[in-house]
Amino acid sequence: MENLFGKTLQELTEMLVAWGMPKFRGKQLADWMYKKSITDFNAMQNLPKDMREKLAASCVIDRASRVDQLDSVDGKTSKFLLNFADGVGVETVLMRQPYGNSICVSSQAGCNMGCAFCASTLHGMVRNLTAGEMLAQTYYINDLLSQTGEKVDTIVIMGSGEPLTNYDNVLKYIRLLHEDYGLGMSYRSITLSTSGIVPNIYRLAAEEIPVNLSISLHAPEDALRSELMPINRKYPLSEVVKAGRDYGDTTHRRVTYEYILIDGVNDNMKQAKELVGLLKGQLASVNLIPINPVAERGWNRPSPARINAFEQYLDQHHITVTVRREMGNDIQAACGQLRNRHLTGEG
Ligand code: SAH
Repeated sequence: MENLFGKTLQELTEMLVAWGMPKFRGKQLADWMYKKSITDFNAMQNLPKDMREKLAASCVIDRASRVDQLDSVDGKTSKFLLNFADGVGVETVLMRQPYGNSICVSSQAGCNMGCAFCASTLHGMVRNLTAGEMLAQTYYINDLLSQTGEKVDTIVIMGSGEPLTNYDNVLKYIRLLHEDYGLGMSYRSITLSTSGIVPNIYRLAAEEIPVNLSISLHAPEDALRSELMPINRKYPLSEVVKAGRDYGDTTHRRVTYEYILIDGVNDNMKQAKELVGLLKGQLASVNLIPINPVAERGWNRPSPARINAFEQYLDQHHITVTVRREMGNDIQAACGQLRNRHLTGEG
């Protein structure tokens, strides 16, 4: 059975035309799937009965099913473990922010970047997700929100996985989000976060889709960054920051550098100074993220005073800086933690 979810209007139309059906049926099918969020061919009333039967005989609209859900005590953050048809599961997070509903989508099941602080990478990577599977995470939450007249307002591709090593699927997903037969989301409401896959940052800049780019930096010099993020051995800091600068220049979108603060590892004033030196003059901002402690790693957050001092230093040196508001700490919102609990059988 062929899964139609994640196919573009063009792909759907080509399939139906090859079946000898008129072209406009493709648009109708896309509307049912993506606008009305219908997964049952039989409910697609404006399609002729024989077409519905033919679709049902050879195709499915397979999305994602919920395996687990954790809600934060304040009710603002919900984390879902969603499974696809082959039993592979990923995490998707809903964050009810003051500016709207934001979701954090996974781009791979697991991850093989090997970042030392990250729970997603502990069991390696299972596989890339397809565009349809990223869209299925989005629709799962959008359907949920639509029950109360709400919708997904912003998307961060910042869940498990490295989106720029799953480039084609991620790009197809972003384009599908934007299509007017889909959710019609503006590119500006979408953010992609990368550990710094330099050639694909340039490639993304050339696509002429102005999505926001976040780059995970986490250290201001190569030796420490290589220790925290092995990918730095392939794409060192200077090249990553150069690619970030190019992205800002090409798209006129402000690049955000994410910087996890780990107590006693990357949070001293010398490092703050190095970070300023690295980013000076660039259309950029820094998002400081006090680390979510991961039991398997044994690192902790700096004290509030140290976090403040780091923030102040950047601010005083004209770097736009924010500290990530804590959301969902009580529900293991750090990447990969809910999934790991299931994989290790503690669930
Ligand atoms: N691979 C991409 C996107 C997934 S990670 C990337 O590296 O950007 C999304 C963000 O969560 C990254 O900035 C990552 O460094 C951060 N992150 C991972 N583990 C974390 C932890 N334990 N505490 C805080 N942030 C974490």
